[in-house]
Amino acid sequence: MRTQMDRVNPQTKASVSAPKKNLIAGEWRASRGAESVDCIDPSTGEILTSFTPAGVEDVDDAIGAARTSFDSGAWRNLPPAERAKRLWRVAELIDEHRRTLAELESLDGGKPFAAAFNGEAPAAAEAFRYHAGWCTKINGETFKPSVPGLDLEGTTRLEPVGVAGLITPWNGPLVMAAWKLAPALAAGCSVVLKPSELTILSTLKLGEIICEAGLPDGVVNIVIGSGAVVGHAIASDPRVDKISFTGSTGSARAIIDAGRGNLKRLSLELGGKSPVVIFDDARLDEAIAGAAEGIFGNAGQVCVAGSRILVQRSIYERVADGLCARAKALKLGATFEETTQMGPLISASHRRSVNNSVQRSLAEGAECLAGGRSLDGDGFFFQPTVLADSLTKSTAWRDEIFGPVAVLTAFDDESDALRLAGDTQYGLAASVWTENASRAHRIARELRAGIVWVNCHGIPDMSMPIGGYKQSGWGREHGRRGLEAFLEHKSVMQRIFS
Ligand code: NAD
Repeated sequence: MRTQMDRVNPQTKASVSAPKKNLIAGEWRASRGAESVDCIDPSTGEILTSFTPAGVEDVDDAIGAARTSFDSGAWRNLPPAERAKRLWRVAELIDEHRRTLAELESLDGGKPFAAAFNGEAPAAAEAFRYHAGWCTKINGETFKPSVPGLDLEGTTRLEPVGVAGLITPWNGPLVMAAWKLAPALAAGCSVVLKPSELTILSTLKLGEIICEAGLPDGVVNIVIGSGAVVGHAIASDPRVDKISFTGSTGSARAIIDAGRGNLKRLSLELGGKSPVVIFDDARLDEAIAGAAEGIFGNAGQVCVAGSRILVQRSIYERVADGLCARAKALKLGATFEETTQMGPLISASHRRSVNNSVQRSLAEGAECLAGGRSLDGDGFFFQPTVLADSLTKSTAWRDEIFGPVAVLTAFDDESDALRLAGDTQYGLAASVWTENASRAHRIARELRAGIVWVNCHGIPDMSMPIGGYKQSGWGREHGRRGLEAFLEHKSVMQRIFS
């Protein structure tokens, strides 16, 4: 029988079978940590490879290398146009290795290959191209201070924040790494990057690409291992000036505590329970298709997944039926099957957690309209699921499940829609579907979410900031705001003698 590994190109096979090391000071160094960790293909449950995680002494070396490189100025003091060229080169190399990166992302992240090849890999390259453009445009301002009797000239300088710890989740390891690395490097930071222990493969390949692009040794360091050991060591080290973290709200709290010692700057991109608000004047076919893609894309393992679907009462039945029809028609399968529309969940334990949340929601009074079960057989598949919850009290209404589980409820009018949309501790994203432009504006203004899509859902763009209100995070990624998260503003006041 053909396995998933028989479907990939020789470079991907070589990447999977190569010993897994940490990138420290420009060298690939073996880990000194404990118990080996398996990399598992979620489509089949097979072990792809395994690795020894970094120990705290490896993290210590990586942070030391980043600190030395930052303090030396080898990267931050390069002419900005030179930094831009190297970032552009990273983008070109990502394009050259697109197939391998996409195959690695499919193998250990469970992403359908077409999505990884057409979405993730080009998006990672685009992050480096976009930020290459910023390198030459990081400028301060000039001021004329108003102090009587003194001739003063004021300027601001934007300087890199220092050594940045970049900690990424498993649900989009390649783009998440690119979305942090590219602005950090454009700003002139040196970094220590830690991918999720569940999905290290594409990040290690990206590390090879960065070495090939000619960044000075020690500017980018990569350490592999758990959050509790490796992530905590980065978050608590006083030589690290900033943490940029994407992951769960619970881990963010641990990082906030660990970073207290030196009052680290923190950017936190966290979870969500994002509402999709469909009015009766919406183009229904598009709204139903958009809502389905918004919750079943990447098997719902998306921070901005539209997991709560709010529908105006007069069209509730039609939307519910349309969504269930789409859920039932979706083809689940292994990531390299051409017919696959939805892949597996990341792990057996995550699937158990998704299943528990669904069963608890049903016990709490939600009704199952479609799906609701794990699939038998290999891999960690879970049916696309549609729940109805008129009481809006269930686990599915409240908690981020991070799986293909939509919960539907009906609303009567705009104020009812806004009340339900805001009934969450999160504030990451939302979408509103209507043909009435004034209504779209009114709703977009009132929703407390970092991004509001109108008549679409889940579309990112490098130029538009994204991030969380409420417990969905601190700060923004992408655009000028995302770059500024890696910069300090320094004021310089100079006295001019006549
Ligand atoms: P997670 O919090 O378990 O892990 C994320 C990363 O943090 C991993 O690298 C992990 O090893 C590390 N980590 C865990 N505990 C740590 C600690 N104490 N100190 C330092 N590092 C630690 O999250 P996950 O399960 O990998 O990812 C899913 C979560 O990420 C969901 O909540 C999802 O909404 C969120 N997410 C948010 C965004 C966004 O942009 N807002 C994007 C993607 C995912």
